[in-house]
Amino acid sequence: MRRSSTANHDTHLLITGYSRLQFARPKLQRDTHFLSNSMAQLSLLGDTQRPDFPKMASNKVKYEILSERLRLRGENHIRWEFPDKFPEKAFEFCGNTIEERQITKVGWYWIGAAQDSGFRDAINFSGKVTNECIARLIEFFDSTPEIKDEHIYFNWKSVCRWHSATKSETPSFSSSSSFRYSDLKSGKINLSMEPMLPELARRQYESILRDGNFWCSYCRKQFPIAQKVTDNIIGRGRKQVWNSWKGRMEDKACVTTTMMDFCSGTCASHEQMSMEG
Ligand SMILES: [Zn+2]
Repeated sequence: MRRSSTANHDTHLLITGYSRLQFARPKLQRDTHFLSNSMAQLSLLGDTQRPDFPKMASNKVKYEILSERLRLRGENHIRWEFPDKFPEKAFEFCGNTIEERQITKVGWYWIGAAQDSGFRDAINFSGKVTNECIARLIEFFDSTPEIKDEHIYFNWKSVCRWHSATKSETPSFSSSSSFRYSDLKSGKINLSMEPMLPELARRQYESILRDGNFWCSYCRKQFPIAQKVTDNIIGRGRKQVWNSWKGRMEDKACVTTTMMDFCSGTCASHEQMSMEG
């Protein structure tokens, strides 16, 4: 049973180990009281009030204030999605390896949201921020577009890689990237509120029968089909037989033979021995 798949390989992520939300402190003093309010007051619409710009503020400064407010809007949304905690670790299943990843940041991509909302022009500036740009940004700010899951992202860096075939771990610090919250919600990534040990992730990984594999009937592990050994296991069972003397069916001991799949002759003989008990 495949739990998820992409065109190239099985991609399966487990998220584990929640911790308290930790965001960078807001830069603007006026927002500090807002963030320290209780969660109930952290409404998604709580920052819809248009920011006041300092007198004679340049467009560049207005842009910075607006983008900071949009950043805070994203943080509030993330707090809404993860009221107490956010993921600390992710386990991605790639082929026959599991990669353990440390979540380094939870953020949101407001420029992407602006583009999705048709405000592409508003952020297409290079150095010079025009009046038109500010007007469009304010329009974007006021229209309060709903933050979408794909605009929330989790940055991660690789911690180690676990190889299911060799049962070995290798440190893997070179890679880092991000995934989107929408991937969590779509089921591409498993989200668990319970702290989950890597061992649990491994067991779950091993419970997924991957393409081209089969289960060994004795050791209960999966192996490539090319390795499959099929054997007749002789056991004891009961069967109903007709007793013509008594004129009725009777339960009788019998010898059974069952075709079973094994990873090796060793597992086949162990299974046979267990049947002979
Ligand atoms: Zn086996």
